[in-house]
Amino acid sequence: MQLHWHRRDLRASDNRGLAAAADADEVVPAFVFDDDVLAHAGAARVRFMLDALAGLREQYRERGSDLVVARGDPVEEIPRLAAAYDAERVVWNQDYSGLARTRDAAVRRALDDAGVGRESVHDAIHHQPGSITTNAGDPYSVYTYFWKKWRDREKAGPYPAPDADSLADVTGEDLPGIGDLGFEEPTAEVPDAGTEAARERLSSFCADAIYRYAEDREYPERDATSRLSTDLKWGTVGVREVYEATEEAAAEADGEEAESVEEFQSQLAWREFYAHVLYFNPEVVTENYKSYENGIEWRDDAAALTAWKDGETGYPIVDAGMRQLRAEAYMHNRVRMLVASFLTKDLLLDWREGYAHFREHLADHDTANDNGGWQWAASTGTDAQPYFRVFNPATQGERYDPEATYIKEHVPELRDADPETVHDWPELSPTERESAAPDYVAPIVDHSERREAAISMFEDARGDD
Ligand code: FAD
Repeated sequence: MQLHWHRRDLRASDNRGLAAAADADEVVPAFVFDDDVLAHAGAARVRFMLDALAGLREQYRERGSDLVVARGDPVEEIPRLAAAYDAERVVWNQDYSGLARTRDAAVRRALDDAGVGRESVHDAIHHQPGSITTNAGDPYSVYTYFWKKWRDREKAGPYPAPDADSLADVTGEDLPGIGDLGFEEPTAEVPDAGTEAARERLSSFCADAIYRYAEDREYPERDATSRLSTDLKWGTVGVREVYEATEEAAAEADGEEAESVEEFQSQLAWREFYAHVLYFNPEVVTENYKSYENGIEWRDDAAALTAWKDGETGYPIVDAGMRQLRAEAYMHNRVRMLVASFLTKDLLLDWREGYAHFREHLADHDTANDNGGWQWAASTGTDAQPYFRVFNPATQGERYDPEATYIKEHVPELRDADPETVHDWPELSPTERESAAPDYVAPIVDHSERREAAISMFEDARGDD
């Protein structure tokens, strides 16, 4: 008997660890509600996880098996489950965060002590950390070079789901409710979870929007991206299956459409780039990747932080993004960049404050990507936005949401204002603001002043003249 320990791979198909276990013997699929992981989770993410687990359990039940669940510390629970089901070996897919690796090392030791075999395999990304390096053998810190090698490297195809014969005839306990795990139902609308929903998102995206992705992805109101981030975070669909679908789309395309498909694939590579960065630099979760930025004296301003979190900064595109986050447990990529830049370069607040808020609210929160995104925007990360290039939220809003459609969707106070008024909002006089949108807040900072202050703050930290 084999035990497959599901973690961030909540699917039966295209699951490398599960396929390896099923190749060897009958498999008991298992999941542990890890108290340590739950301590860092938010309600939207937990809701998605529970729904994905319910879908996974259904897939096993249709094959005469079940998902066995436990709660507690995996260091105790995994050896206990292995003993309960007389498993000779436990198999799992690797997770690249420092916390997960420390936990997994402890589970390995516990299984060794119990005389149970174990194997962990790479599954969540195509090319494992250490397999794409500079010619000198070092991990890349510049994405473009990483991408070229990633793109040209051969990729494995999807792994088949285990058939009914290779799954053990077991019965699992009921899944806990969200309240049992210590969370309230999220107020945000969480996307449908599970492999079926993920495949639906993938196939509809690859049938159409992927061919316009390169152009449309920057415009939040077009809603033209795949929305696969939560599926990739929880592994409700496998990366090989996703890539195969994009290759099939590429086979139908040429010219700009083919370039657009490649642009999408390059976003999948960003995800792998950040997984490598996290693997080789586990400390980036709490520390700047560029240690020479450690001297930055971020401000301490609780009122500004609250205004940012509540979408009440008086910068319409920033407020729209922050409200989208609360409403959908998601935010468009361009707007993530803008709100992160605003927190660090306009409010001069520490990126770790923003990261913690995203971690609480995003359904797709992924340590590697979230940290990579924040450190990029804060100019402290690998291949980051240079500190002297500060986004102007008003001109960015005008450029990427010209009709203010996205802004108006999320900031109802501005619904009756014309787009020009919305984009000029920070520059309007109090009287003009009062007559255009009396219920919307005035800007809490002056962008030009803060831009100068941010540049000086970075130069001071770097010891520049
Ligand atoms: P698509 O545009 O359809 O992209 C397809 C997939 O590629 C995404 O699902 C994601 O897995 C990957 N991807 C796309 N852009 C990036 C990127 N810049 N970095 C890494 N991977 C990328 N992404 C997360 O998955 N989880 C996070 O917690 C997260 N936090 C972020 C925080 C900040 C401050 C920033 C600037 C970006 C963050 N991103 C994060 C990256 C990106 O914003 C999201 O992946 C994307 O918006 C998800 O929407 P989508 O699935 O429609 O993306």
